[in-house]
Amino acid sequence: MTAKVIDGKAFAANVRAQVAAHVAKLKEEHGIQPGLAVVLVGEDPASQVYVRNKHASTIEVGMASFEHRLPVDTAEADLLALVKSLNADPKVHGILVQLPLPSHLNSELIINTIDPAKDVDGFHISNVGLLGTGQKSMVPCTPLGCLMMLRDHHGSLAGLNAVVVGRSNIVGKPMAQLLLGDSCTVTIAHSRTKDLAAVCRGADILVAAVGRPEMLTGDYVKPGATVIDVGINRIERDGKAKLVGDVHYASAAAVAGAITPVPGGVGPMTIACLLANALTACCRANGLPEPEGLTA
Ligand code: NDP
Repeated sequence: MTAKVIDGKAFAANVRAQVAAHVAKLKEEHGIQPGLAVVLVGEDPASQVYVRNKHASTIEVGMASFEHRLPVDTAEADLLALVKSLNADPKVHGILVQLPLPSHLNSELIINTIDPAKDVDGFHISNVGLLGTGQKSMVPCTPLGCLMMLRDHHGSLAGLNAVVVGRSNIVGKPMAQLLLGDSCTVTIAHSRTKDLAAVCRGADILVAAVGRPEMLTGDYVKPGATVIDVGINRIERDGKAKLVGDVHYASAAAVAGAITPVPGGVGPMTIACLLANALTACCRANGLPEPEGLTA
């Protein structure tokens, strides 16, 4: 079997186009422009690239982008004051504080100071609780992107066996909650799971969020399963820098029914879902209907 490739790049372009159309409608019919604020503390090169891409994508869909770059030695009190001022700013509908923060800053305190209604990353403890109890929340962007692609591929997910490998707060756990919300039978696997390959082979949907290059080979995949590879690992092969996922693509694609590649799978969906979340937050703040198909 050769798996169908789930083209995250094309899917994300479509999501961004839907967001842009909705933003244009909001401006035209209500005179409202959604605004997204991104806060970057320090000069971490990867974070700088992410923030630059987020800014460009925000502008591209017609939203207002507010960028705040602070020095690496920013005092916690100053960062908290900035977050509070963004909470109070009616032009700002979404706030994202780029992680990781420098070690002298208390990330949990900073994230939990963001107004939950503006928490477009979905990391505020209120949003975590709302998602866990099946209530309307802001949903973390990467798992939301995975869910959108799975719904598109399968239609209904009800009754499917899903295995999520990884239990982080930003990917694994919210991914499992979302799949449960769509009535999958969900298993969360992690570093202490026994016979991981056998557990994974029980999955109709296998989500890899491990952070280990090409760990899940074709031996972990049930024939015909859908494989979502969240992993982004930078490795060197044959003297060249290369981006690979947590799934060994060639062997898994030979067994799976559908698979996301790396790059070009889950990655592009994360920013697209950030924009979707900012739009959703704006609609909710203004008491307007939420965009269909862009939320969990
Ligand atoms: P974390 O390091 O926070 O979590 C990794 C998880 O994998 C942990 O729960 C860990 O288990 C589990 N794990 C590690 N080793 C094994 C093993 N040998 N067998 C089974 N489970 C194992 O990573 P993240 O969730 O933050 O990220 C996961 C991957 O997704 C990374 O490659 C990251 O780069 C990528 N990512 C991609 C994004 C995108 O936009 N596409 C966004 C965010 C992340 P335990 O808890 O027991 O230690």
